[in-house]
This record gives sequence, C-alpha cells and structure tokens, in this order.
Amino acid sequence: MAADPDCLFCKIVAGDIPATRVYEDERTIAFMDINPGTRGHLLVVPREHAVDLLSVAPEDLAACTRTAQIMAARVSDKLGADGVNLLNSCGAAAWQTVFHFHVHVIPRYVNDPLQLPWQPAPGDRDEIAAAAARLSE
Ligand code: 5GP
Ligand code: ZN
Repeated sequence: MAADPDCLFCKIVAGDIPATRVYEDERTIAFMDINPGTRGHLLVVPREHAVDLLSVAPEDLAACTRTAQIMAARVSDKLGADGVNLLNSCGAAAWQTVFHFHVHVIPRYVNDPLQLPWQPAPGDRDEIAAAAARLSE
C-alpha cells in the first residue's frame, strides 16, 4: 500500500513531520514516542503504510519484530533497562490511536510505575475451553 497522506506515521517516515529517529533499515524505522511510558519508550513502524496487525504485510511484521528485538537489546545495554515490554494495539477497542501499524518498545525498570492493566485471576474453565475450541477450528 502507498503512503496515506492523512497518516501521521507516514509523514514521520517521509520526514515531513519531525521525529527523533534512533534506527532505520530498508523496511522499518524506530523513533522515540513523544509520550513515553518509561525512559526510552520508542516505536517501530514499517515504512509501508498498513493500518494494523491484521493488515500489515508478513514481511513487514517480521522486519518490525526484528527491529524491536534490536531495540530491546539497545535499551537494555545503553539505558540499563531491567526488562522490556513489546506492545501492539490492534483496533480502537485495544487502545490503538494511530492507525499505522507500530510496535511499542517499552523499557522496564525495577520499581517503575507501570502496572498490568488487568487483575490476573483464574478464568471460567468452560469459557476457556469453549474459546479454545473455536480458536482450534
Ligand atoms: P497507540 O496508541 O496507537 O498504540 O500508539 C500511538 C503512540 O504514538 C502513542 O504512544 C503516542 O504517544 C505516539 N505518538 C502520537 N503522536 C506522535 C507524534 O507526533 N510523534 C511521536 N514520536 N509519537 C507520537
Ligand atoms: Zn501510515
């Protein structure tokens, strides 16, 4: 798919909007998130426009995953992150706000303020099994 003229991240890829780039290759770029959850929070995007996880080309998804791995190593080595979360939001219901596929690389530090957005608790076994049955079809 060609660049979307209304897409914020396409404009960043094209250099029409400034961003603090930290990595680039043939298929992907990584730049700092302007609203970081932790120190070093960055985004990895494909150069090619794709709206979300469901529509991104598999080759671009693979390339973004590899770039995210490279950046996870860098935040660990250079910023002293103790751990890393990779996050993708697919769809508004999943909190996606920019509709150009991206992977968040979120460095984690012991005692940083981030928390799981849900309370882990045992699920209903029948419901789990029913969902699994549908997903296995
Ligand atoms: P989403 O909510 O779609 O998962 O993630 C979008 C991310 O893009 C957010 O974390 C937000 O802070 C970031 N963001 C939004 N606008 C800009 C911008 O103009 N520049 C940069 N660098 N990041 C942005
Ligand atoms: Zn785009």
